[in-house]
Amino acid sequence: MVQRLTTQGIADARVLRAMGAVERHRFVDSALVNQAYEDTSLPIGLGQTISKPNVVARMIELLLGAPALVGRPNDKLGRVLEIGTGCGYQATVLSHIATEVYSIERLRGLHEKARTNLRHFRLATVHLLFGDGMVGYPKGAPYAGIIAAAGGEAVPEAWIAVGGRIVAPTHSERGGQALVVIDKTARGIERRVLEAVNFVPLKSGIA
Ligand code: SAH
Repeated sequence: MVQRLTTQGIADARVLRAMGAVERHRFVDSALVNQAYEDTSLPIGLGQTISKPNVVARMIELLLGAPALVGRPNDKLGRVLEIGTGCGYQATVLSHIATEVYSIERLRGLHEKARTNLRHFRLATVHLLFGDGMVGYPKGAPYAGIIAAAGGEAVPEAWIAVGGRIVAPTHSERGGQALVVIDKTARGIERRVLEAVNFVPLKSGIA
């Protein structure tokens, strides 16, 4: 899987190391274990999916490209907020590239699934939260980065208020979704729209 990521253009050694360290098969149902290292998204229950390895790696690489880390290819990010814990896979990968990970999930069933999945790894730096990530998680702020695994109409103001770099799938003017990267700089808020993506919807409230 890691070899394929390099041919797909993932170059950051921190990302490749993290992707190689986390066993993706531990996060999917036993019936899907033989597909765990393929380049495909997989169902994780309650109508949600774990993203393709390629998309997880790409988004984390973008997060590590934050202005604060430019020229520091070996450094970890500080605190990171993940919106949409799902099965906990990406949160576990993030624990290798950030000093602290706060990950929030709005579906109780998945929040609990992630708790069970993560128990094996005993990660003291990953904090799993049950709640609506649309409003952010101010208690963990400020963040070095925010990464969203679900896409909404726009990037919520609450994230921009507390975030360092934000990487999020967002409704695109051309229809569908695109990855958006937002940085707060001395010149103001800079926003870049990148490639088309296909994420589950960002929803408000808990269930
Ligand atoms: N990163 C996850 C991918 C999960 S899919 C993984 O590695 O498995 C995206 C998740 O975002 C879904 O579980 C969905 O319930 C959740 N989600 C959608 N809107 C949300 C919100 N407002 N707050 C928190 N989680 C949300």
